[in-house]
Amino acid sequence: SVGALGETWGDVQKAAGAMERIADLMDARPGIAAPAVPKHLPVAGAGEVEFADVTFAYPGRPDLPALSGFNLRVAPGERVALVGPSGAGKSTVFRLLLRFYDPTEGAVKVDGVDLREADPAEVRRRMALVAQESPLFSGSPAENIRFGREGATEAEIRAVAKAAQADSFIEALPQGYDTPLGERARSLSGGQRQRLAIARALVREAPILLLDEATSALDAENERLVQQALDQAMDGHTTLVIAHRLATVLKADRIVVMEDGRVVEQGSHTELVAKGGLYARLAALQFGDAAA
Ligand code: ATP
Repeated sequence: SVGALGETWGDVQKAAGAMERIADLMDARPGIAAPAVPKHLPVAGAGEVEFADVTFAYPGRPDLPALSGFNLRVAPGERVALVGPSGAGKSTVFRLLLRFYDPTEGAVKVDGVDLREADPAEVRRRMALVAQESPLFSGSPAENIRFGREGATEAEIRAVAKAAQADSFIEALPQGYDTPLGERARSLSGGQRQRLAIARALVREAPILLLDEATSALDAENERLVQQALDQAMDGHTTLVIAHRLATVLKADRIVVMEDGRVVEQGSHTELVAKGGLYARLAALQFGDAAA
């Protein structure tokens, strides 16, 4: 699954020490060079994403491309849900956007600039990632959220925690936002952890949001709160979400269906179900009767 994305982050994080900033972690990506004279992203760029004829094969599997002639343009503020069978290339799309790798052919662009020509720090500031298993640290909730952007004020941290539906459970901790989580980090529920991860992404104030939706089942109350948090998070962001839930695909402006590293269908849930193709089959499996 998308686990490999988590693994990459996990490894880099271990290497860098738990409280290092995401920015520093991303500098540690191997084999990715910053250009000597980087092109600046347009100041007013609102977070447009484009994959132009991207073919990409992982270094270990040069003959088996994970993306083949992949084309996708996401307009500023648009919500795109990526759906497809396991191995279709959904996580690979994220890894190329985060520039863990460069394409073999074609280009990945943010606000019109090829990532290979851009200043990695500028690109990074335009993106926030919520991974399936975003790691929490033993520090306080405030520190866990501030990990998204060093220098975020207390007021900013509270505002994003509220938007991510995390404020109430944080306030209920013995010392609120300053409670050392310690072992407690592990005892937070899956839904609470997800909401903290969403708050951490929001505090970055980046125009592009990458969501790798968790597959783990949540109880009804947590499900509702996580959905509310995601709604708030997607609002006003260009969003790419690897979607596993019906509620998420229903809210997408566009569903992009991937298979074997290509886009095979796209449209709304209703359109794609009516079409009776790959999406209709996947939706029936994944969402059951609710999707009909
Ligand atoms: P899932 O829903 O299972 O997470 P996915 O659609 O995200 O699948 P990817 O993880 O992008 O699929 O994988 C696309 C293809 O690339 C698959 O064939 C996969 O086996 C391969 N692949 C993924 N990561 C690597 C890697 N690090 N090295 C080699 N091949 C990889």
